[in-house]
This record gives sequence, C-alpha cells and structure tokens, in this order.
Amino acid sequence: MYCPFCNANDTKVTDSREIRENNQVRRRRECLVCKERFTTYEVAELSLPHVIKRDGRRDSFNEDKLRSGILRALEKRPVSLEQIETAISNVLKKARTSPEREIASQQIGEWMMEELRQLDQVAYVRFASVYRCFQDIKEFREEITRLENQE
Ligand SMILES: [Zn+2]
Repeated sequence: MYCPFCNANDTKVTDSREIRENNQVRRRRECLVCKERFTTYEVAELSLPHVIKRDGRRDSFNEDKLRSGILRALEKRPVSLEQIETAISNVLKKARTSPEREIASQQIGEWMMEELRQLDQVAYVRFASVYRCFQDIKEFREEITRLENQE
C-alpha cells in the first residue's frame, strides 16, 4: 500500500476493524517514512458472472431481466416488496459467489424458481410455466402435484 502523502511503499496497519453493514474492512495505516496516518477501506470484489444463453451465445448478467422476471411472476400476489428484494438479492448472491465465471441462463432460472417456490406457489407455477414452456394443462397439473408432494 502506497502512502498517499509521500508515495512511499512502507506503511503499517495500526488498526483494523470490520464494518458489518457493507462487508468492508476499515484499516488505519501509518506511513513509516512521513508518519502521516490515513484510512483505507477494503471490500471483496465479487462481480457477476457472464451468462451463456440457451443458443450458446454469451451475454453479461442482466440484473434488470432477473428483476422483471420475478416481478412479473409475483404480479398481484400477496408478497411484500421487501420479500421480493430479498429473493432478488439471494439470486444475485448465488451468481456472485458461484465458482464459475460463466453460468448457464437455465441455472439462473432454476435459482429464481427456488426463491419463488418458497415465496409464493402460484407465482412459482406461473414462472415455471413460462420458463419451462408448458405446452398444456397436463404439465401444470404435474408441476402442482410435484409441489404438493414436496410438502
Ligand atoms: Zn508517507
């Protein structure tokens, strides 16, 4: 770490503490050359992986698309905005912490379905029907039977 005052590369950490809300680490440092003190904030960089679409093309992760998919499924359902935000951030967290730097769009769809299944079963079936391209009423029935059997 270079000293911002004299540019020396000799600094020592005098204090280090975690800031819980945004997963930062705050460090007090002292330059061993000019003795100035300064503070640094460290935060892990977890970028979103790239997405491989069904047709094999790569795309950047689209947070808006994720959000609108979840919102559409939950339209007029008795679910609070806070619950929706939690669901979205759960999916984003899975994407960010995934060891793969490229993930299939199907994987994101599965993560969304997992969240919806816990939030609201109607929204879940709604999303699954679009996502898995249900062809007829039989497929709805099968999905609902699967849901009922899980309880
Ligand atoms: Zn210095």
